Amino acid sequence: MCQVEEEYHGPLLREELPRQCVKCKEASAAVVIRAGDAYCRGCFKEYFIHKFRAMLGKNRLIFPGEKVLLAVSGGPSSCSMLSQVQEGLSQNAHKKLRFLPGIVYIDEGGAVGQSVEHRRRTVEELRAVFRATGFPFLMVPLEQVLDLPSSVVLSAPGAPEQEAGAYKAAVDHFLLSNGSSGVTAGQQQETPPPEVQEAHTHSLQRLLGSARTLTAREELLNILRQHLLVHTARSAGYSKLMLGDSCTRLAVKLLSSISLGRGAQLAHDTGFSDSRYGDTILVRPMRDYSAKEIAYYNRMFSVPSVFTAGLDTKTADKSSIQHLTESFVIKLQADFPSTVSTIYRTSEKLQSCKGSASAEGDRCLLCVCALDTAAGENASAFSATLISEQLSQTKSPGESRQAPEWTAPASQCCSIVGGELCGNRGGGCCSSAKASESPPLRSLLCYSCQLTIKDMSSEEVLPQYILSEAERRLRRSQLREEIRDFLLEDEADEG
Ligand SMILES: [Zn+2]
Ligand SMILES: [Zn+2]
Repeated sequence: MCQVEEEYHGPLLREELPRQCVKCKEASAAVVIRAGDAYCRGCFKEYFIHKFRAMLGKNRLIFPGEKVLLAVSGGPSSCSMLSQVQEGLSQNAHKKLRFLPGIVYIDEGGAVGQSVEHRRRTVEELRAVFRATGFPFLMVPLEQVLDLPSSVVLSAPGAPEQEAGAYKAAVDHFLLSNGSSGVTAGQQQETPPPEVQEAHTHSLQRLLGSARTLTAREELLNILRQHLLVHTARSAGYSKLMLGDSCTRLAVKLLSSISLGRGAQLAHDTGFSDSRYGDTILVRPMRDYSAKEIAYYNRMFSVPSVFTAGLDTKTADKSSIQHLTESFVIKLQADFPSTVSTIYRTSEKLQSCKGSASAEGDRCLLCVCALDTAAGENASAFSATLISEQLSQTKSPGESRQAPEWTAPASQCCSIVGGELCGNRGGGCCSSAKASESPPLRSLLCYSCQLTIKDMSSEEVLPQYILSEAERRLRRSQLREEIRDFLLEDEADEG
């Protein structure tokens, strides 16, 4: 995760600089962003700050007085986002940002096997950075993901669609009421970070370690991190969660998502706003900045960032699909400077398909996106996988063809054993099956998350909030199936 940014820590002025700034045509140029765009220090700062406000202004999603949680990992991009929010709040009333920011940092040291001492040092370093902003902040160890409630994987009903003009009305109202007096960014309270129990760290490591590939481990970590961020935002009353993905990061994410079978979720994964959680909207205001611009800005204006190791730090390029995609994009970008922007422009044209996931059962249990598995009848990677799975499950010619595991679980099961689906689809009477057989969790997942789970040695190490929600959904679909039988009989009677 950190490699993208690290790439640009080299000398600031690698390119040969034209003498003058293209903007003010007076001061001497200090930075070249793209070929031909040479800015002086002052104009670069103005350009950079303007871009942030323009991104928020264009999308009109964050209302005045709204509580916005900034997810800061310590990396250059999210730290730059933090400094832009600070900058925006210090502007004069006309240009001022009007939301109430808070910061959250997820300490993932346990996931990558750092010592307690190492983690404590990183947390201390970041605490100093956060304290200096005056914003309220939360330091949350990733271990807390193990204690999340099942509600985190449900899409909560969001605020009703805002009418056109609602944004302007809200701004006007805000300016009339207290806009001139300025917004205080909330009280900064110092709450000591919760103690991490060693047993929790072990459970977390066992969970991530159960993924047999780094690709699956990274996907799993992404999912867990996002759940914890959304839960933290929800429970602290923040309705927006700001993520620091740069355009370089999003270009990598776009390509790797396609490779991972997440094509249907691309608009959510890479767009400016992501409403899959309903009440908590994820926004990516840094998506117009390249990693290079961010590195220049951070260096010129002394924006502090703290290095934190990720799962793929110091691994070979081919260690995971995500890592390989990253090194591919970065290497291509070095020779073809429009690589990232070309990929990124594609993401701007993507739109999520709406309306398909109204019920909770239509959403993936892990990534909370609309299930893409129902659309798999036509030619797709998913249907191809299913066909080959089906073929490999076909036994002797005499044996009747049985539906594989991925079909609707309830229709294949003739009874409930011990309050759970017996899980025995495909071999004889299931009332004789053992109750301990695992439920077909995979039927609740999107195509890509199914691949992730397939790479895990055991589903049972998944956190309890995921397992119990899975159980609940499976039981519900079983119930729905039973009710459907009654309804059909009624219809037949009437006929
Ligand atoms: Zn200038
Ligand atoms: Zn999914």
